[in-house]
Amino acid sequence: MSFKTILVPFDFSEHSVLALEKACQLGQQLHAELHIVHVRDGGADEDLQRHAMDRLLSAVPPTYEMQNRVHRQVLNGRAHAEVIQYSKQHQADLIVVGSRGRNGILSLSLGSVAQRILKEAPCPVVLVRADLTNAIESVDEADIQYRGLKESDSPALDLIARAISLRATDIHIDPLDKEQYQVRFRIDGIVVSYCNVDTGVAERLMHQYRTLARIDAVDPFRPREGRLMLPASMYDFEVRVTTTPVAGGEAMALRLFTKESVFMPLGSLGFGPAGLQTVQEMLHGSEGLLLVSGPTGSGKTTTVYSMLQTYGSTNKNIVSIEDPVEFDVPFVRQLNVDERHDVTMTSGLRTILRMDPDIIFVGEIRDPENAAIALRAASSGRFVFSSLHTRDVAATFTAFRELGVKDRSVAENVIGVVNQRLVRKLCEKCRRVGELGQNEREIFTLLGVEIPSVVYQSVGCDACRGSGFKGRCGVFECVRIDAELAKAISDNANEDDIRRLIRAKGISSLTAEALKKVIDGVTSLDEALSVRWA
Ligand SMILES: [Zn+2]
Repeated sequence: MSFKTILVPFDFSEHSVLALEKACQLGQQLHAELHIVHVRDGGADEDLQRHAMDRLLSAVPPTYEMQNRVHRQVLNGRAHAEVIQYSKQHQADLIVVGSRGRNGILSLSLGSVAQRILKEAPCPVVLVRADLTNAIESVDEADIQYRGLKESDSPALDLIARAISLRATDIHIDPLDKEQYQVRFRIDGIVVSYCNVDTGVAERLMHQYRTLARIDAVDPFRPREGRLMLPASMYDFEVRVTTTPVAGGEAMALRLFTKESVFMPLGSLGFGPAGLQTVQEMLHGSEGLLLVSGPTGSGKTTTVYSMLQTYGSTNKNIVSIEDPVEFDVPFVRQLNVDERHDVTMTSGLRTILRMDPDIIFVGEIRDPENAAIALRAASSGRFVFSSLHTRDVAATFTAFRELGVKDRSVAENVIGVVNQRLVRKLCEKCRRVGELGQNEREIFTLLGVEIPSVVYQSVGCDACRGSGFKGRCGVFECVRIDAELAKAISDNANEDDIRRLIRAKGISSLTAEALKKVIDGVTSLDEALSVRWA
């Protein structure tokens, strides 16, 4: 991604001066060409035009001009139309425009020119407001800064920054009624309302996201997906957008990823000591299929990326086929499934097998063909990672059977299965020591987990925005397929028998693992007991 051509509409007003300053900063950082355009709304008077050009010449500091390329243009016509046309002609990558008024999402009151540019621009638009002094909204200032990411000058980017600062993983924008849209965030797995905005504001916002994702609005009747092209200052973030027509308008969902949350050290995901050791041993293998399973949104992708990361400093050739690629991994050659260009999971897998890989990541096994190819790759001396949607480790083998894979092939090639869920972590600022009743003691006993001396329960404070929880952590069932399990699988043992065999090896179930998080004070008993097939 690069912004090589920056366009600044300039009308000599205070806010356009601020916009120009901002554009110069960006131009300097990005080594971009700057185009300053002044649009006169009168006729083509030569004298006035020359006069305007003279003023444009002195608008940019000479020191800036010595280092960066600057173009100037005086045009006649309607400001927004001329600016849009100029941006298309010169293939602008970014428009920086000054706007009156506050810039927050809740009070979007831009100058009408800025507003129309925002609506029609073929590229991302940065809005620079004039009254910087009172621009911060009622939300804590600390909240809207995230690792140095200050409120930007674009409402679309602001909303993302705000969501990230609140640890949201998703933003949902949906029509509420004719006049309003609601904006909701998913925080720690739970959807909470953030604000309502006027339909006009929501439409501009969604237009900005579509523009950033290069989703054209040619066909508004089909769901569309894309990945936002974010400015360099948001390098640590990755945002995927899905937009779909719904009754009453358009619904948009944005999934947010931060490098921080995607590239987590394996040891910090929540594995128990035994599970972590099992996983580390499996990662030392050189061939076979390692599966990460669990329901949607259970953190499978993060776990796989964290596993791949352990190979970061080795000279192994790692290739992936993902649908979609959720995050750029620097040391992995990633192929995106793209049905429109005939890159399917199956054809992509064939391609990557020709790329001489040591390690392959197959995004998710969804059909018999994918399953067969992943297993074939594993049997040809490669280490293959993949994920599968199953309830627990034992259920994974049933799932393979249902995909038509021969038990023997599974027994020979699958080296291990990690099944996982996410539980919310108690807010350490407000958690409180709770009571453990007789029934609850029995649960611990039943699952063979020691009864804790202290359990905590959720309360709610400002730090956790009243929810009592802050962040999530993984709960894992980690099973290495040893000779005994392999034999049971190839002998067509049923799911319950395989489950019993796993328990007999002393490997805890997901629920038992979740209860251990209660003992550690990481989560509450209620939250731990909510771990189940969802
Ligand atoms: Zn709290």
